[in-house]
Amino acid sequence: MSRMEVAQFRCRSDNFGLLLHDPASGLTAAIDTPDGEVIWRELQSRNWQLSHIFNTHHHYDHVPGNEMLKERTGCTIVGAKIDAHRIPGIDLQLTDGEQYLFGNQAITMIETPGHTMGSVCYFVQEDRFLFTGDTLFSMGCGRLMEGSAQTMWHSLQKIMALPEDTKIYCGHEYTLTNAEFALEIEPGNKALQARANKVRELRRARQDTLPVSLSSEKATNPFLRPDSAEIQKYFNLQGASKTEIFAAIRTHKNQF
Ligand code: ZN
Ligand code: FE
Repeated sequence: MSRMEVAQFRCRSDNFGLLLHDPASGLTAAIDTPDGEVIWRELQSRNWQLSHIFNTHHHYDHVPGNEMLKERTGCTIVGAKIDAHRIPGIDLQLTDGEQYLFGNQAITMIETPGHTMGSVCYFVQEDRFLFTGDTLFSMGCGRLMEGSAQTMWHSLQKIMALPEDTKIYCGHEYTLTNAEFALEIEPGNKALQARANKVRELRRARQDTLPVSLSSEKATNPFLRPDSAEIQKYFNLQGASKTEIFAAIRTHKNQF
């Protein structure tokens, strides 16, 4: 099996630009296009030819470089079928569970509505990279701009069912403030304390806190932890349904 490379760099203020490169086939995909010019420069500096764009959702900070990059490179734009009307330049529409052969690895689209109704994640099967866009952040999750808490919780459970060693790449560097929120509602979580310390160190050194493993997220991300007795107690929701607890965490985060 051939290993793929991921290049991660900053775009706009806190968006991540992400390039997935397959050395065997020479294919290169951009995951979203937060800044076309920055992505273009990254491609040039690595001598990579853009062949694809995989969009996670339609928001203004995820698609603005689509048309410019397509014009310059003739790349194929892949996105969610239900969002075809709002993904600029979309060529290929996929639905939940559909696989796309990228080089010799399958990339599976996973529909994860909640942040928007058309939000999707892309799972690179063999390398176990997961591109989550604004659905899952490290120690956080996207705001419910279109979906309900129930819809989002269902989507997060799909992510939680992936292999533990899945490496998560997301759309924004929000980890430090997410860690502060997580510590407020679950201060006794040892894994969370350790990750928060590590994140502070990384950010002080101006380094990225992503990618992160799914197992680390399950141990530290409050949005994946409605089972936590400490979180349930914080909200006075002992024994409530996971959806209710998730909704309480999400509402509280909006005011944090
Ligand atoms: Zn968004
Ligand atoms: Fe975003």
